[in-house]
Amino acid sequence: MKKDLVKVLKILKSKYPQKADMDLGNPADSLIATIMSARTTDAQVLKIFPAFRKKFPTWKKLADSNVDDIAKAMNTIGLYRNKAKSLKALAQKIIAYHDGKVPESMEELVTLPGVGRKTASCVLSVCFNKPAIAVDTHVFRISRRLGWAKGKDALKVEKELADLVPKSSWSVINLTFVPFGRDICKPGKPQCYRCPIAKYCDYPNKYLEP
Ligand code: SF4
Repeated sequence: MKKDLVKVLKILKSKYPQKADMDLGNPADSLIATIMSARTTDAQVLKIFPAFRKKFPTWKKLADSNVDDIAKAMNTIGLYRNKAKSLKALAQKIIAYHDGKVPESMEELVTLPGVGRKTASCVLSVCFNKPAIAVDTHVFRISRRLGWAKGKDALKVEKELADLVPKSSWSVINLTFVPFGRDICKPGKPQCYRCPIAKYCDYPNKYLEP
Protein backbone atom coordinates (compact mmCIF):
# COMPACT_ATOMS: atom_id res chain seq x y z
CA MET A 1 0.00 0.00 0.00
CA LYS A 2 2.72 2.52 0.99
CA LYS A 3 4.49 1.78 -2.27
CA ASP A 4 1.30 2.58 -4.17
CA LEU A 5 0.78 5.84 -2.29
CA VAL A 6 4.19 7.11 -3.23
CA LYS A 7 3.66 5.94 -6.81
CA VAL A 8 0.31 7.75 -7.01
CA LEU A 9 1.86 10.97 -5.75
CA LYS A 10 4.72 10.58 -8.23
CA ILE A 11 2.30 10.15 -11.14
CA LEU A 12 0.32 13.22 -10.07
CA LYS A 13 3.48 15.25 -9.54
CA SER A 14 4.63 14.57 -13.06
CA LYS A 15 1.18 15.50 -14.43
CA TYR A 16 0.89 18.65 -12.31
CA PRO A 17 4.45 19.95 -11.84
CA GLN A 18 3.46 23.57 -11.26
CA LYS A 19 4.00 25.37 -7.96
CA ALA A 20 1.10 26.14 -5.62
CA ASP A 21 -1.09 29.12 -6.57
CA MET A 22 -0.36 30.72 -3.23
CA ASP A 23 3.40 30.32 -3.55
CA LEU A 24 4.02 34.03 -4.00
CA GLY A 25 7.71 34.09 -3.20
CA ASN A 26 7.66 35.25 0.42
CA PRO A 27 5.88 34.18 3.63
CA ALA A 28 3.95 37.43 4.17
CA ASP A 29 2.39 37.45 0.70
CA SER A 30 1.62 33.73 0.84
CA LEU A 31 0.03 33.97 4.28
CA ILE A 32 -2.12 36.99 3.40
CA ALA A 33 -3.23 35.49 0.08
CA THR A 34 -4.04 32.13 1.69
CA ILE A 35 -6.21 33.82 4.32
CA MET A 36 -7.96 35.77 1.56
CA SER A 37 -8.60 32.58 -0.43
CA ALA A 38 -10.96 30.95 2.10
CA ARG A 39 -14.29 30.30 0.36
CA THR A 40 -13.07 32.20 -2.71
CA THR A 41 -11.22 31.01 -5.78
CA ASP A 42 -7.46 31.48 -5.92
CA ALA A 43 -7.95 33.23 -9.26
CA GLN A 44 -10.15 35.90 -7.66
CA VAL A 45 -7.55 36.51 -4.96
CA LEU A 46 -4.63 36.66 -7.37
CA LYS A 47 -6.52 39.20 -9.49
CA ILE A 48 -6.78 41.74 -6.68
CA PHE A 49 -3.62 40.84 -4.78
CA PRO A 50 -1.02 43.09 -6.48
CA ALA A 51 -3.16 46.23 -6.01
CA PHE A 52 -3.96 45.21 -2.43
CA ARG A 53 -0.28 44.83 -1.55
CA LYS A 54 0.53 48.11 -3.23
CA LYS A 55 -1.93 49.76 -0.88
CA PHE A 56 -0.84 47.76 2.19
CA PRO A 57 2.80 46.83 1.51
CA THR A 58 3.93 46.21 5.11
CA TRP A 59 2.59 44.66 8.32
CA LYS A 60 2.76 48.13 9.88
CA LYS A 61 0.61 49.68 7.19
CA LEU A 62 -1.97 46.88 7.54
CA ALA A 63 -1.93 47.09 11.33
CA ASP A 64 -2.42 50.88 11.31
CA SER A 65 -5.12 50.94 8.63
CA ASN A 66 -8.83 51.22 9.12
CA VAL A 67 -10.74 47.92 8.72
CA ASP A 68 -13.13 49.63 6.28
CA ASP A 69 -10.25 50.66 4.03
CA ILE A 70 -8.79 47.15 4.10
CA ALA A 71 -12.21 45.67 3.31
CA LYS A 72 -12.75 48.11 0.44
CA ALA A 73 -9.51 47.00 -1.20
CA MET A 74 -10.71 43.39 -1.35
CA ASN A 75 -14.47 43.72 -1.70
CA THR A 76 -14.68 41.44 -4.75
CA ILE A 77 -13.82 38.34 -2.71
CA GLY A 78 -16.05 36.38 -0.35
CA LEU A 79 -16.24 37.25 3.37
CA TYR A 80 -14.13 40.33 2.78
CA ARG A 81 -15.26 42.14 5.93
CA ASN A 82 -14.28 39.30 8.24
CA LYS A 83 -11.07 38.80 6.33
CA ALA A 84 -10.22 42.52 6.64
CA LYS A 85 -10.67 42.32 10.41
CA SER A 86 -8.50 39.20 10.55
CA LEU A 87 -5.75 40.75 8.43
CA LYS A 88 -5.52 43.85 10.60
CA ALA A 89 -5.41 41.74 13.79
CA LEU A 90 -2.91 39.39 12.15
CA ALA A 91 -0.58 42.27 11.30
CA GLN A 92 -0.83 43.64 14.84
CA LYS A 93 -0.01 40.25 16.34
CA ILE A 94 2.88 39.54 13.99
CA ILE A 95 4.41 42.90 14.90
CA ALA A 96 3.77 42.53 18.64
CA TYR A 97 4.76 38.90 19.15
CA HIS A 98 6.82 37.75 16.17
CA ASP A 99 9.14 40.64 15.40
CA GLY A 100 7.33 41.36 12.17
CA LYS A 101 8.04 37.91 10.76
CA VAL A 102 5.69 35.05 9.87
CA PRO A 103 6.33 32.31 12.44
CA GLU A 104 7.57 28.94 11.21
CA SER A 105 5.75 26.43 13.39
CA MET A 106 2.23 25.01 13.33
CA GLU A 107 1.79 25.80 17.04
CA GLU A 108 2.55 29.49 16.53
CA LEU A 109 0.77 29.87 13.19
CA VAL A 110 -2.58 28.58 14.47
CA THR A 111 -2.62 31.21 17.20
CA LEU A 112 -2.74 33.97 14.57
CA PRO A 113 -6.06 35.60 13.63
CA GLY A 114 -7.63 34.06 10.53
CA VAL A 115 -5.19 31.13 10.50
CA GLY A 116 -6.47 27.56 10.89
CA ARG A 117 -4.60 24.30 10.34
CA LYS A 118 -5.17 24.33 6.59
CA THR A 119 -3.71 27.80 6.12
CA ALA A 120 -0.86 27.02 8.52
CA SER A 121 -0.03 23.82 6.63
CA CYS A 122 -0.01 25.67 3.29
CA VAL A 123 2.36 28.29 4.65
CA LEU A 124 4.65 25.71 6.28
CA SER A 125 5.03 23.67 3.11
CA VAL A 126 5.01 26.47 0.55
CA CYS A 127 7.11 29.07 2.38
CA PHE A 128 9.28 27.10 4.76
CA ASN A 129 9.62 23.80 2.95
CA LYS A 130 8.39 21.90 6.00
CA PRO A 131 6.31 18.72 5.72
CA ALA A 132 2.62 19.50 6.23
CA ILE A 133 -0.72 18.23 4.93
CA ALA A 134 -3.16 21.00 4.07
CA VAL A 135 -6.59 19.35 3.94
CA ASP A 136 -8.78 21.54 1.76
CA THR A 137 -11.93 20.45 -0.06
CA HIS A 138 -9.95 18.69 -2.84
CA VAL A 139 -7.64 16.80 -0.48
CA PHE A 140 -10.61 15.79 1.67
CA ARG A 141 -12.67 14.47 -1.25
CA ILE A 142 -9.88 12.74 -3.17
CA SER A 143 -8.32 11.05 -0.13
CA ARG A 144 -11.68 9.52 0.72
CA ARG A 145 -12.37 8.43 -2.87
CA LEU A 146 -8.94 6.82 -3.16
CA GLY A 147 -9.56 4.92 0.06
CA TRP A 148 -6.68 6.65 1.88
CA ALA A 149 -8.97 8.15 4.53
CA LYS A 150 -12.41 7.63 6.00
CA GLY A 151 -12.61 10.56 8.43
CA LYS A 152 -15.61 12.83 8.30
CA ASP A 153 -13.75 16.03 9.07
CA ALA A 154 -10.53 17.65 7.91
CA LEU A 155 -8.59 16.97 11.10
CA LYS A 156 -9.38 13.25 11.04
CA VAL A 157 -8.41 13.01 7.38
CA GLU A 158 -5.18 14.90 8.08
CA LYS A 159 -4.30 12.42 10.83
CA GLU A 160 -5.10 9.40 8.66
CA LEU A 161 -2.96 10.78 5.83
CA ALA A 162 -0.12 11.56 8.23
CA ASP A 163 -0.15 7.95 9.42
CA LEU A 164 -0.27 6.55 5.91
CA VAL A 165 1.93 8.75 3.75
CA PRO A 166 5.69 9.06 4.34
CA LYS A 167 6.53 12.45 5.82
CA SER A 168 8.76 13.32 2.88
CA SER A 169 5.67 13.27 0.63
CA TRP A 170 3.21 15.14 2.87
CA SER A 171 3.51 18.46 1.05
CA VAL A 172 3.01 16.81 -2.34
CA ILE A 173 -0.54 15.80 -1.37
CA ASN A 174 -2.07 19.29 -1.43
CA LEU A 175 0.22 20.46 -4.20
CA THR A 176 -1.02 17.74 -6.58
CA PHE A 177 -4.56 17.00 -5.35
CA VAL A 178 -5.69 20.61 -5.85
CA PRO A 179 -4.98 20.74 -9.62
CA PHE A 180 -6.03 17.07 -9.98
CA GLY A 181 -9.33 17.84 -8.23
CA ARG A 182 -10.00 20.82 -10.50
CA ASP A 183 -9.04 18.89 -13.63
CA ILE A 184 -10.18 15.26 -13.26
CA CYS A 185 -11.33 14.11 -9.82
CA LYS A 186 -13.91 16.87 -9.65
CA PRO A 187 -16.61 17.30 -7.05
CA GLY A 188 -19.80 15.63 -8.25
CA LYS A 189 -18.85 13.49 -11.22
CA PRO A 190 -15.16 12.55 -11.38
CA GLN A 191 -13.73 11.93 -14.86
CA CYS A 192 -12.37 8.47 -14.05
CA TYR A 193 -12.15 7.56 -17.75
CA ARG A 194 -9.16 9.92 -18.07
CA CYS A 195 -7.68 9.40 -14.64
CA PRO A 196 -3.97 8.44 -14.55
CA ILE A 197 -4.31 6.79 -11.12
CA ALA A 198 -7.62 4.93 -11.63
CA LYS A 199 -6.06 1.53 -11.04
CA TYR A 200 -4.96 2.59 -7.56
CA CYS A 201 -8.34 4.05 -6.59
CA ASP A 202 -10.97 2.36 -4.40
CA TYR A 203 -13.87 4.60 -5.48
CA PRO A 204 -16.73 2.18 -6.14
CA ASN A 205 -18.69 4.30 -8.64
CA LYS A 206 -16.02 5.12 -11.19
CA TYR A 207 -17.26 6.94 -14.31
CA LEU A 208 -15.48 5.03 -17.03
CA GLU A 209 -17.15 6.80 -19.96
CA PRO A 210 -17.50 10.52 -20.73
S1 SF4 B 1 -10.58 6.90 -10.49
FE1 SF4 B 1 -12.10 8.52 -10.42
S2 SF4 B 1 -12.59 8.78 -8.27
FE2 SF4 B 1 -10.67 7.66 -8.39
S3 SF4 B 1 -9.07 9.21 -8.24
FE3 SF4 B 1 -9.46 8.85 -10.41
S4 SF4 B 1 -10.99 10.39 -10.99
FE4 SF4 B 1 -10.99 10.26 -8.75
